[in-house]
Amino acid sequence: MEFLKTLGIEGINPGTSTGRKHMESKETISSYTPTDGERIATVGVTSREQYDHVVEEAQKAFEIWKNTPAPERGEIVRQIGQKLREFKEPLGKLVTYEMGKIYQEGLGEVQEMIDICDFAVGQSRMMYGKTMHSERPQHRMYEQWHPLGIVGIISAFNFPVAVWSWNAMIAAVCGNVMIWKGSEKTPLCAVAIQKIVAKVLKENDLPEGIFNLVTGDHQVGEWMTEDERIPLISATGSIRMGKEVGKTVASRLGKTILELGGNNAIIISENADLEMAIRATVFGAVGTCGQRCTSTRRLIIHESVYDQVKERLMSIYENITIGDPLEEGTLVGPMIDQDAIDAMQNALKEIEKEGGKVIYGGEPLDEDGFYVRPALAEVENHYNIVQEETFAPILYLMRYKTTEEAIEMHNGVKQGLSSSMFTLNMREAERFLSVGGSDCGIANINIGTSGAEIGGAFGGEKETGGGRESGSDSWKAYMRRQTNTMNWGDSLPLAQGIDFDV
Ligand code: NAD
Repeated sequence: MEFLKTLGIEGINPGTSTGRKHMESKETISSYTPTDGERIATVGVTSREQYDHVVEEAQKAFEIWKNTPAPERGEIVRQIGQKLREFKEPLGKLVTYEMGKIYQEGLGEVQEMIDICDFAVGQSRMMYGKTMHSERPQHRMYEQWHPLGIVGIISAFNFPVAVWSWNAMIAAVCGNVMIWKGSEKTPLCAVAIQKIVAKVLKENDLPEGIFNLVTGDHQVGEWMTEDERIPLISATGSIRMGKEVGKTVASRLGKTILELGGNNAIIISENADLEMAIRATVFGAVGTCGQRCTSTRRLIIHESVYDQVKERLMSIYENITIGDPLEEGTLVGPMIDQDAIDAMQNALKEIEKEGGKVIYGGEPLDEDGFYVRPALAEVENHYNIVQEETFAPILYLMRYKTTEEAIEMHNGVKQGLSSSMFTLNMREAERFLSVGGSDCGIANINIGTSGAEIGGAFGGEKETGGGRESGSDSWKAYMRRQTNTMNWGDSLPLAQGIDFDV
């Protein structure tokens, strides 16, 4: 595999940045490709001793980085973006090979990193604070934003590189240093990125401790969440994980950005452009083999177009090419591992048990790797299984009569990430986006639930965790706000007119 060589991936790879030689990892994890189940390579698991060393190196690097002017920090991020452009193809292939999403999506994920680098470069000159009018004479009041210190980034397998960049690039221009623990299911992607970033730092005579890597499962994640030296933990993953992380970090009064599971729906109204709605639905439901946080899981269809939509979906599903995600023409690659297939099979059984009906697909394919046929099922929204996020390509079809009912069904789950309505009716569209409409962090009209742009703030409400990353003013979450008041007069008036003569 040429791309592995280009990215410097070897048979055995260190999984810890700035790791000293005498602290070599005793344990390793193997990375398997879901395309055929073969082992690709192994990566050293970070030991407690190595972890503490990384934190110390990060603390030292923070002293240098926080005193580097923000636009100069932006220049380093610009160079990282350039290197990512250079390595876009091999990186895209590695994402595909290790995670299983099709090559077009692998390339898209790397492009997302490049885009966020560009965004962060601009941001590095735009971290504005406000100036306020003081109620006291000859006083000036303003606020400024300072970096927090070490930002811990814990990421999930399904976006093995982009989620790191959303956090790391913005946090870096803010003046923070980063410790990243990628998913134990995709450690090679993290190793490859670390190599690229370390090269840029070296070329600029900066310490690698600005961007750090640790490798391992939840144990290493728990060291991070318990660690008072890490003021902010940005964690992406399941709701179960987020509840644990949230509790641990809150118990030491640290900050979190939580990006957790979704249970995203599209409402197809009787006023929809059905062709557009169906195309968006298929991409949302089977793209990344249903393993996106924003995957379309529920389709809420107006009763007048229900049968038409259902038939059209069945005929499209019959023609979807499932197979090697590196091959051109494949639309659906494998799931991540056997556990994911088992969880899907379990969900399909639950659907039937609760009175629903699997009307298409669902079965694993009889070949090497973890391939399944995406499934369609007719259900009701209140089923326990529909209320959960099953991280698999199962699309639930439900029917509705009135817009109120559709919105009620739409919001009637515990998660609140992405949402969409297809309609050409302006009143209905505005209603969906209004305060009485979608309760999600992302609400779209005539666009599906997946495929967000980096310029907007990304994240969701309710059990999705409330965090926001990426664009808009998300940078503020990586900084501490300081309110400054400067008295340039020769008296000491007190606020609220308090008289306190001594
Ligand atoms: P996961 O929760 O199993 O693991 C995510 C990460 O958390 C991994 O790095 C894991 O090692 C770590 N982890 C697990 N338990 C931990 C603990 N107690 N303390 C610290 N770290 C811990 O998730 P996954 O299977 O890798 O990813 C799929 C999930 O991620 C889905 O639920 C999906 O919706 C969600 N996701 C959300 C977003 C978003 O932006 N909202 C983006 C991508 C994925």
